[in-house]
Amino acid sequence: MTDSLHNAPYITLKGLTKGFRIGTETVPVFTGLDLTIPQGDFVAIMGPSGSGKSTLLNMLAGIESPDAGVVQIAQARLDRMGESARSAWRAHHMGIVFQFYNLLPMLTAAENVELPLLLKPLSAKERHARVEKVLELVGLAGRGSQYPALMSGGQQQRVGIARAMVSDPDLLLCDEPTGDLDRASADAVLEMLGFLNRELGKTIVMVTHDPQAASHARHTLHLDKGRFTDARRAA
Ligand code: ADP
Ligand code: MG
Repeated sequence: MTDSLHNAPYITLKGLTKGFRIGTETVPVFTGLDLTIPQGDFVAIMGPSGSGKSTLLNMLAGIESPDAGVVQIAQARLDRMGESARSAWRAHHMGIVFQFYNLLPMLTAAENVELPLLLKPLSAKERHARVEKVLELVGLAGRGSQYPALMSGGQQQRVGIARAMVSDPDLLLCDEPTGDLDRASADAVLEMLGFLNRELGKTIVMVTHDPQAASHARHTLHLDKGRFTDARRAA
């Protein structure tokens, strides 16, 4: 009994079904997708444009709901939660890194990183200490007062990673985190993700179509037309 609990996967997708309504028709993206990912893994999901990578990540994030099937992370059944419960769960347990950083241009780097903490019962002093610590973690110590527009793409993505990490989540979801970066900046971002996985034990699910990005992960899965084509899925 205890054993089966210890071996329980961290992420479980079972029979995941999702389609988008276009006019009067529903275009299926997933029809019964299964996947398990253990805690502490770093999984890259590759696949051509339109194969469902972002849709999958958005369902893991609880941003999109499946039409049917199970989305379970740790003990939480995201597919059974309402929207506000899902947002609260997300704020507590996961950080999300976006291809185009999604930083607010009128806020400084530090203010962008601080945003997720505004929902938490922390004093301004505690918030600022956490922001400084996480900026240091991503190699941007002392850069907090800069505005995103004055930073390189690589620096902006580090701010994005700092914002994802500031609540100390267990899980990082990354959608094409290096898709907008030159090779050197991309490699620096990937090394940072590797560090967060190895040294801080973060579970990472990264969608990418960059094979070099995938080489930083522990496992790579290939998605094509809503199915994994790998003989053996990450388990
Ligand atoms: P990827 O990230 O692999 O490029 P997506 O998950 O964005 O793929 O899209 C998978 C499929 O679902 C595509 O055919 C896309 O056109 C469709 N799709 C995604 N989001 C929507 C939406 N909001 N409305 C309608 N169709 C969508
Ligand atoms: Mg996408």
